[in-house]
Parts: sequence; structure tokens; C-alpha cells
Amino acid sequence: MGKKLLLKNAHIEGIRYFETYRKHGGYEAAEKALKMKPEEILEEVKTSGLRGRGGAGFPTGMKWSFLAKPEGVPRHLVVNADESEPGTFKDRYLMEFLPHLLIEGMLISSYTLGSNTSYIYIRGEYSWIPDILEEAIDEAKAAGFLGKNILGTGFDLEIYVQRGAGAYICGEETALLESLEGRRGNPRLKPPFPAVKGLWERPTVVNNVESIAAVVPIIEIGGAEYAKIGVGRSTGTKLISACGNINKPGVYEIDMTITVEEFIYSDEYCGGIPNGKKLKACIPGGSSVPIVPANLLLKTINGEPRYMNYESLADGGFATGTMMGSGGFIVLDEDQCVVNHTMTLARFYNHESCGQCTPCREGTGWMYKILKKIEKGEGKMEDIDLLWDIQRKIEGNTICPLGDAAAWPVAAAIRHFRDEFEWHVNNPELSQTQNYGIANYADPIPAVSNS
Ligand code: SF4
Repeated sequence: MGKKLLLKNAHIEGIRYFETYRKHGGYEAAEKALKMKPEEILEEVKTSGLRGRGGAGFPTGMKWSFLAKPEGVPRHLVVNADESEPGTFKDRYLMEFLPHLLIEGMLISSYTLGSNTSYIYIRGEYSWIPDILEEAIDEAKAAGFLGKNILGTGFDLEIYVQRGAGAYICGEETALLESLEGRRGNPRLKPPFPAVKGLWERPTVVNNVESIAAVVPIIEIGGAEYAKIGVGRSTGTKLISACGNINKPGVYEIDMTITVEEFIYSDEYCGGIPNGKKLKACIPGGSSVPIVPANLLLKTINGEPRYMNYESLADGGFATGTMMGSGGFIVLDEDQCVVNHTMTLARFYNHESCGQCTPCREGTGWMYKILKKIEKGEGKMEDIDLLWDIQRKIEGNTICPLGDAAAWPVAAAIRHFRDEFEWHVNNPELSQTQNYGIANYADPIPAVSNS
């Protein structure tokens, strides 16, 4: 059984409510933190090695230390709960079942950063969760853990929940800030970074839900103990939302020392692939990270087992590795068609492009159109090369990472599964009725007897 820090009490009935949360040790880390100096908490977070759990994996303590502190200017903490990356739903789980863990993490983090007004920006599609969060905020306030002069320390904190309108791009931190200020969620040019000029042009830290929740166990056990869990620069635990062709989809907490094979096949986690099908590929970090075929997913290019952590998943770079990303783990069995899958993702990114920069606005549309053509059996061989060329022209040439997020799945699909693209071109008639996986691997459908 892997180490549990965030979900250790998730099974307790009523843990969503203050009274039960408190009875099981809730807000003790906050009480401890409020007796410490903010610089001491910052040191604990740095020592813990915690890396941002939203996707980029940037060290949280270092991000906090960049926060500008001009005299007399308010600072803000903004929690990014705009969890819109396809395949990623672990923050939803935290907010729905453990809202006080997030509120407690925000209290500790806000105190450390000097934010007296903090925000949770939540995606519009999570329509039922703001009520849960607001109820938890009211409970915490009634118990003296939010509001004025918290626990007699002189520290004040108000937390507000802001609903987004359902745009993927608002998960990008500067687009999120634009939206929070009441404008269209268009990403800003950087610099200046939010740590200097963020919400209302004030110094702001934007952190993912899981990152802020992880501050609670860091204070509970200390940064050094937290850093001992995991391996290398992949310290602590990580939530993984697993879905696709697996027997047990759900949210799992792992300590980043287990292998990918164990994660997919053991009963403690995904429980294997249904109907005895073979593993074809996986997208381990949310839809924008490179897809990896089974052979490179289970082993690195050197034949070493691949582990569920930042370094091992990235081993080999984009040529043979992938990324931990947000932890949205999507498994594809042998019946799946990579071309069809890539086309679906291309449509998503095209739809979600804010349209500010040409490579993203035009390129995502082109990629979708070409993929649609190939998938329907109407493509030519040169379309595959054109697709490759377009994704290369998008990557690294846009204001925000959505351009990269749209380009990487296409690049990885062509790199590892070019044969499937060619099959669609070479089998136009079959392409219209079957996908590559079914046509090439699925068991024949048993003949129906009329007798
Ligand atoms: Fe908008 Fe795409 Fe440019 Fe990002 S990369 S700013 S989403 S057009």
C-alpha cells in the first residue's frame, strides 16, 4: 500500500464537513504554521521539494520566493481550479470530498505569502463544487480559521470563489487573472510575470489546487520528511486521475516510486486492461503530453523500468519519453485508433484557442482539418508530412503554452504511430467504416446464428 498524505482521510464519512475534518486532525497544521514566521514556512516548502502539481512541475517554494513585496501594496494568492485538461480530474476530487484540506492549505499559504484576500478560480463545468467550497469557507470562518484576526494572531484572510465560464485557456495563469478581473480570458504577454504584476497589477502567486493542499502535510510532517517520500526531484505524493481502457478508473495517490507497469496492472491502482486486451499506448500527464507506445511506456530506451515520476516519464526527451504533466493518465488498448484519438484532441485545442496568435489560431484549425481528412480515408501521404510541418511551426511560437499543447500530441502520434496514418491513407474504404485498432487487432465478431 503506497503512502497516503492527501487522501489518507478521504474514506471517512463526513470528512467534507468542518467538524469531522477537525476531529481527524484538520487545521492542526494551520495552528502550527500560524505560530511560525512566514520565512520559516517558506523554507519548509522549499526543503520539501514540492513541485507544482498543475502540469509544469515548477518548484513551489521557488515560485513563492519570486513574489515581489513592495511596501504598502497588497499581494494575492489565487488557486487555479480551472482543471480543464482532458483526462485530468484529481482537483475535482480534492475539492468535492476534502474542501477543508484546500482551505487549510490556502490559510497556511496566504499567511506565508502575506495575502489577506485570496481566490479560488474554478472552471464553470464544475457547477456543483463552488457551493461545497463556499460552505467550507463559511464553516472555517465560523470556527475562527478565516476572517479577522485568525486565532488571535492578527492575520486576516478572506477567500472568494470565482466561477469561470468554461474556457480551457483560463487554466493558463495570466488568462485566469484576466478572467478574474472581469475580462475575456486572453493570456498576457510575459514578462511581467504575475509574481510582480498579477491580479489587479499586484504581486500574485497562482498555484494549482493539489499544490496548495500539499502544503498541509508538508507542515504536518516537516519539509525534510516530505522530501524523503518519493525519489530524486519527485518528492512527496502525487494524485493521478486514471481513465481510458482500465478496469478501475479513478483518482489515486502514489508516492512516485512505483513503476508504470505496477500502476496499470496492480489491483491497488488501475487493475489491468478490460477483456484481456493488450496495452497499446498511454498519455500519462493529461491530453497535451506526448502519447507513448506500450514498449516505451513500460521501459525506457535503455531497458530500465519506467517509473511514475517526473524524471523517469520524461527519460529520453520527446523522442522516447513523455511528461508527468497534470497526472491525467489515459490508457489506450489495442482496439483504439491513434489517428481518431489525435483528431479528437486537435478539435479540442482548435476550439479552445483564444485566437490571439496566428500559429495557434490558424495552425490548430489546419491540423484538425487534415487529421479529419486522413481519418476519413480521404488523405494523401503528403498530408502526413504537412501535418508534421504545421505542428513544428506552432511549437514555441505562441504567446502561451496552448500552442505547444496542441502541437505535442500530433508530433508524438506521427513519431510513434506513423503506420496508422499510412494505413488510413492506404485503406480509404476501410477507414470509413472501421478504425485502425478494430481493423487490425480486434477479435472477429462471432457469427450470429439464425437457427
Ligand atoms: Fe491564444 Fe493560442 Fe496564442 Fe495561447 S497560443 S495566446 S491560446 S492563440
